Amino acid sequence: MTRELSREPVPVDVLVIGAHPDDAEIGMGGTLVKLHRLGYSIGVIDLTRGELGSKGTAERRAEEAAAAAAVYGARFRANLNLGDNRIDDSPALGRKLAELIRRAQPRLVFTHHGEDRHPDHREAHALVRRAVFQAGLRNLDLGVPYHLVDALIFFPVNEWVEPSFVVDITDTFEGKLKAMRAFASQFVEPTAPIDHKYFGVEDYLEAAAVRARHYGMRIGVRYGEAFVTAGVPVSDPVAAFRRG
Ligand SMILES: [Zn+2]
Repeated sequence: MTRELSREPVPVDVLVIGAHPDDAEIGMGGTLVKLHRLGYSIGVIDLTRGELGSKGTAERRAEEAAAAAAVYGARFRANLNLGDNRIDDSPALGRKLAELIRRAQPRLVFTHHGEDRHPDHREAHALVRRAVFQAGLRNLDLGVPYHLVDALIFFPVNEWVEPSFVVDITDTFEGKLKAMRAFASQFVEPTAPIDHKYFGVEDYLEAAAVRARHYGMRIGVRYGEAFVTAGVPVSDPVAAFRRG
C-alpha cells in the first residue's frame, strides 16, 4: 500500500533538509532507500523550489520531487519556499525552520556540508544548524513543544570531503539513480547547451557513480555515500561497526 505524500511535516525518524529539490537525492539517495528498507520513516524539507535553475520550472520540479520521494517512501516532503538564491542564515528563518523540525520530531537530521561551491548550500548548512539548535530550546516558544535530535549529519553534494563515516549503498545504488532520474528535467532530458559544458544530462548520474565508487572503496564495498558529523554518538561500538 502506498501512502499519500504529505506536504506538511509529520513525525519521522529521519529528516533531510536540502537547499533545492534534488539535493537530498544527490547527497544521500542511496542511504534514503536503505533507511526505507530498514523500516525507518523519512521526511524531506526543501528550502526553495529551485526556480532559478537553468533547467525545468518550479512546478515541474515539485512534481519530480514528489516522484523521487516515492522511491524511498517518504512520509512528507515540505517546501519552505524561501526563494532560490535567497536562503540566509537568520534567526527569523531559523525559527520558521525550527518549527517544522519540532513538528517532524526526527532522531536524525541530515543537511548540506558547509564547504560547497554553491552559496545556497553553504547558507542552508548554517541555517539548519541554527534551526536544529533553536528547535531544542525549551524556552523558545514556537507554538510546538521543543525537540532535541540525536545527531545532525552533513552530506557533501559537490565537494570531496573527509568522511566521518560512509554508508554502504551497494544494494541501493540503483535506487539512488532511480530517485535522481525522477528529476527528469535536471538529469535525464536533453537540454539546450547552457553556459557550462559539464552540466549536461547523464553527466550528473555518471558523477554520482564516480563519487559513490570512490567512497565505497574507502570502506571496501562497491558503492558508498559519505557523511560528516562533529561527533558520532556511539553507544554500542560492536553494533555500530557490524558489517551486513
Ligand atoms: Zn542544490
